[in-house]
Amino acid sequence: MELRRLENMMEQFVFAEIHRALSNDGLCGCDDCALDVSALALNNLSAKYVTSHAGELFNRAESSRSEDRVAVIAEIQRAINKVRHRLPHD
Ligand SMILES: [Zn+2]
Repeated sequence: MELRRLENMMEQFVFAEIHRALSNDGLCGCDDCALDVSALALNNLSAKYVTSHAGELFNRAESSRSEDRVAVIAEIQRAINKVRHRLPHD
């Protein structure tokens, strides 16, 4: 069984929003900061797994509901507020 054919749609949503959220807040959007905030946000979101068949995501339509996106944006904001003090760095 290939584990990489299992994808958490919430990761896609977080990665789609993270850089915009960081720059809206005037915060650093480097990979380290973006990944730190993404990890915090994803820990507070329920995973939503889909399978990919020959590269196509199965069930994508059902899993891309706008309420998921709203939840993702809220969790990103919460994560940013939690680590805001240590995000600015050289
Ligand atoms: Zn950074």
